[in-house]
Amino acid sequence: MGLAVTLGEGGTPLLEAPRLSERLGCDVRLKWEGANPTGSFKDRGMALAVSRAVEQGAPGIVCASTGNTAASAAAYAARAGLPAVVLLPAGAVARGKLAQAVVAGAELREVEGSFEEAHLEARRLAEEEGYVNVNSINPDRIEGQASAAREIVEQLGGLPDVLALPYGGGGNTRAYERGFDEAGAGRPRMLAVQSASRAETFATAIRIVEPVHREQAEAAAEVVTVSDGELREWWTAIARLEGLFCEPASAAGVAGVAQVRPDGRVVCVLTGHGLKDPDAVERL
Ligand SMILES: *Cc1c(COP(=O)(O)O)cnc(C)c1O
Repeated sequence: MGLAVTLGEGGTPLLEAPRLSERLGCDVRLKWEGANPTGSFKDRGMALAVSRAVEQGAPGIVCASTGNTAASAAAYAARAGLPAVVLLPAGAVARGKLAQAVVAGAELREVEGSFEEAHLEARRLAEEEGYVNVNSINPDRIEGQASAAREIVEQLGGLPDVLALPYGGGGNTRAYERGFDEAGAGRPRMLAVQSASRAETFATAIRIVEPVHREQAEAAAEVVTVSDGELREWWTAIARLEGLFCEPASAAGVAGVAQVRPDGRVVCVLTGHGLKDPDAVERL
């Protein structure tokens, strides 16, 4: 591959969480993905997807997004000197993410309808204009995101017993499965945690009715379903017990662990930063 497009993504901390561990009755560690350059794990996959788009000589990139993919695509496209078109479901994107996409100069188009409709439109545009689609149906996204699982195995000196993460479209669940396989130490029990109200959860990053990767994600992980009330409770608990301000969707892993109550060494992935969605706080 030619010159890689990078903003220093990955290499995020895996933090001990003593107070949360006490509350949950297991040894909880938090993989802090809010520490990535644009504040979410999406950067790991976007770095590779945009690097490959440049290598292919693509005229631009396009994606549909509930927000973090947009913020990440806009930043990496700017870094690469490529135009980015971002399709957003109207009224369902958190303010911080929108600000990131605007300031990086992406072309934003609001789509009346759900994420699914925006996603169809992105695929159509990719075909028509020769732009590279950088949604998680792009295999480079999954390949790039797999690095997080390999890091965890390195940071712990082995596999955790359990890995818990939010379940939106399921791309990240597939990425962890792949990363653990690549690390060659086997796979932990995986909990993919979704909101009970997929169509209208306040955790907009997982407001996805039809997960694109459902089949593979649900083969790799147990699906756990939590209410928005539980999400809210654990979202604030993570900040109050451990000092980490993540966005609401990112609390899903911890909320799932609170429901399942597994034993052993449990890694919860905090997928994005709390500053992404300041309005969620006003709704507390
Ligand atoms: C994208 C995203 C998710 C959902 O990941 P999937 O790969 O769609 O399952 C969860 N949390 C945050 C913060 C995200 O940006």
